[in-house]
Amino acid sequence: MIRSAALVLTLATALTASGAETPAPKPSAPKKFVLVRTGALVDVLQGRVLTGQDVLIEDGVIKAVGPNLVAPTGTRIVDLSGKTVLPGLIDVHTHITSQPEDYYADIFRRSPIDIAVTAHVYAKRTLEAGFTTLRVVGADEYVDVALRKAIDKGTVVGPRLKVAGLPIGATGGHGDITGFSPYLKFGGFDNVADGVDAVRKLVRQNVKYGADVIKMIASAGVLSEEESVGAPQYSFEEMKAICDEAAMWGRKVAAHAHGTEAIKRAVRAGVASIEHGSLIDDEGIRMMKEKGTFLVADVYNDDWILAEFAKMGYPEKIIEKERSVGRLQRENFAKAVKAGVRQAYGTDAGVYPHGFNARQFKYMVAGGLTPMQAIQSATANAAELLGWDKVGAIAPGRFADLVAVDGDPLKDVTILEKVSFVVKGGEVVVSR
Ligand SMILES: [Zn+2]
Repeated sequence: MIRSAALVLTLATALTASGAETPAPKPSAPKKFVLVRTGALVDVLQGRVLTGQDVLIEDGVIKAVGPNLVAPTGTRIVDLSGKTVLPGLIDVHTHITSQPEDYYADIFRRSPIDIAVTAHVYAKRTLEAGFTTLRVVGADEYVDVALRKAIDKGTVVGPRLKVAGLPIGATGGHGDITGFSPYLKFGGFDNVADGVDAVRKLVRQNVKYGADVIKMIASAGVLSEEESVGAPQYSFEEMKAICDEAAMWGRKVAAHAHGTEAIKRAVRAGVASIEHGSLIDDEGIRMMKEKGTFLVADVYNDDWILAEFAKMGYPEKIIEKERSVGRLQRENFAKAVKAGVRQAYGTDAGVYPHGFNARQFKYMVAGGLTPMQAIQSATANAAELLGWDKVGAIAPGRFADLVAVDGDPLKDVTILEKVSFVVKGGEVVVSR
């Protein structure tokens, strides 16, 4: 009590002091200009490729785009006239703080502190692969919030992050740790909540500790030990409570949902995106189209899981679940593409090694997207899903986040797996 009273006093004094005096204006630092000359420029907002364009950047933000731009004296010129320039890429389904190495060690030997001290390595790797913005849909112990803060301050090198904090899941579900003795206890923040009041409270806690978005576990999953992949794990009322509470705080909800019924419940409850969407049926596709819900289908990582997870000691039960769902997911993704469901690029990075994010482009094109649509899913569409009009396109007012490649990614999207130039906020991060 005494301490809080003292704090109030201090605050009051500070407020009075700052109100009494107008601080002297700081001498403004000289503006920093960069002019990027491009060979081809991918205009994702109009779905076209332009040639002979310049991009003028002022203090990390795009000021103008057009031919033969005149830059103030002293402007740094970056010559990418031999390359194709695209907006910095966005992956909206990542777990940037960790990646699996060994089943036993992942669960029993790594502490949240181990995770916290290595997360920055994955962030840098991902940025250098051309992904300048990520949505992080679930991390233990709010390590994602800490990482975002460190990146925003410039202490750590990495993409811009929008983070979810703890993924909200039901007891015994995909977000819980199951399959062990009831006497084994895991410490730390609890991401499990059951019932309308408890799920609302966990949304509030996530917002309190820095979440930009809310992640809800609507159905069972693959990399966990519950029996099913697709069974719903929340009632409609619980899902609706999560969406309503998130909306009150100005947050969107991303729903992990493989199962047919869980997808529909989540769409009806008002989520912004369905993650995975593996077992979606025609009715679910129709509902998503009607509501404008984004599908975030991680159609690459099946290959990685089936090739690598047995070697890392993951239980056969988990690998068998991937076998049962992975191929179906690709077929159903193709159906959703054909029906015109909106797509945002999310790969579940952290299930496979960070930095391979661009490998999914090929699979999205195989599923029926044109290369331009696949690129839009990882730029303009992704920005729209994030609700962030500062990223996702090369246009005035947006952050100067750019990547460049040698060759034409609209002919061969795998070129995006080898970006040769990355700019974030007007600063060159990679130049090869
Ligand atoms: Zn995930």
